[in-house]
Amino acid sequence: MYMNKFRLDDRVAVVTGAARGIGFAIAEALAEAGARVVLTDYDAKALDDAVARLAATGATVEGEVFDVTDAAAAQRVNDAIVARHGRVDVLVNNAGIAISDHPAESMSDETWSRVIDVNLTGVFRACRAFGRGMLERGGGSIVNIGSMSGFIVNRPQEQVNYNASKAGVHHLTRSLAAEWGARGVRVNAVAPTYIDTEMNQYVHAKENEARLQGWVGNTPMHRLGRVDEIASVVLFLASDAASLMTGAIVLADGGYVCW
Ligand code: NDP
Repeated sequence: MYMNKFRLDDRVAVVTGAARGIGFAIAEALAEAGARVVLTDYDAKALDDAVARLAATGATVEGEVFDVTDAAAAQRVNDAIVARHGRVDVLVNNAGIAISDHPAESMSDETWSRVIDVNLTGVFRACRAFGRGMLERGGGSIVNIGSMSGFIVNRPQEQVNYNASKAGVHHLTRSLAAEWGARGVRVNAVAPTYIDTEMNQYVHAKENEARLQGWVGNTPMHRLGRVDEIASVVLFLASDAASLMTGAIVLADGGYVCW
């Protein structure tokens, strides 16, 4: 009875920024739970490779190019998927970028806007386009990838753009949950700690040893996170196992915010 609630058989799920990293792991998890997963990313070649890698495992997956900063793209991608499969049941807004080590007093408008456009406006537009269809059909589950950076200020890197974007994602999540709760659409977020992806590869360089030690030392569990540890939380929130949850921001941070 309980394990079935985690299954996503016959559901159509869409993941943004799914060509690699956390997004790819999320696509893998949702497919393993039985969903038909549409991986999306803005790099067509990387997307094709990712879809081929997952399809080779027997997963039911397909790709759709989607740049979340393209104002018209969310509606276009939603409509294309609905035309093929009739609906979208699960949307995971994972695409995100960081431009760090820019002190606020000298940050350019461009550096500010680039991060806000991808991380916050991109999430809003996708929620709006896909959410509309979910509301019409009376159900759906959206999971946004926020960050512990929406709760704390990272150190030592200066990244007011990223931190503000993720705090924005968290409150966007709560706002949509409140607006759409009575109409069957749940909206939740996951807030990860430092995860060992491309985004953070630079920290393994010899010259960044002190930064890596700082990150790990500030984490009660004393390590970075893995992509599968975020994907499993997303799977839970996307599924009926979380049927009473909306507006939740679930920290998966190894205890980072405890200190
Ligand atoms: P990666 O950089 O490894 O992967 C992000 C993916 O999103 C890439 O495939 C990237 O494409 C794609 N992407 C970037 N811009 C766009 C766009 N405009 N439209 C569509 N796709 C785009 O990142 P992670 O897997 O580490 O991060 C995933 C999410 O998790 C992000 O929202 C991030 O902020 C969040 N997060 C990550 C943490 C971490 O420590 N890694 C910690 C907390 C939150 P391309 O490779 O071509 O740029």
